[in-house]
Amino acid sequence: MSENSVNACPKCGGKMDDGRVPKGLNWFSGYKSTSQKHFSFEVNFERAKACLDCGYVELYLDPKKLMSKLESKE
Ligand SMILES: [Zn+2]
Repeated sequence: MSENSVNACPKCGGKMDDGRVPKGLNWFSGYKSTSQKHFSFEVNFERAKACLDCGYVELYLDPKKLMSKLESKE
């Protein structure tokens, strides 16, 4: 997969820089869905991108990990 065309900032169209969330920060941050099983942990962010023009930051988690924690809807 090539990565050059999708790498534009959704806010200003600037160049997005690829990065990640520092490991230590994952202790303090994460995403928990409202339909997630009650006693399951948050899903940590694994990737981050920052715009080199406006500074907008995007965080990415592993969608498979999130799906595995959601209550089944069927
Ligand atoms: Zn931007």
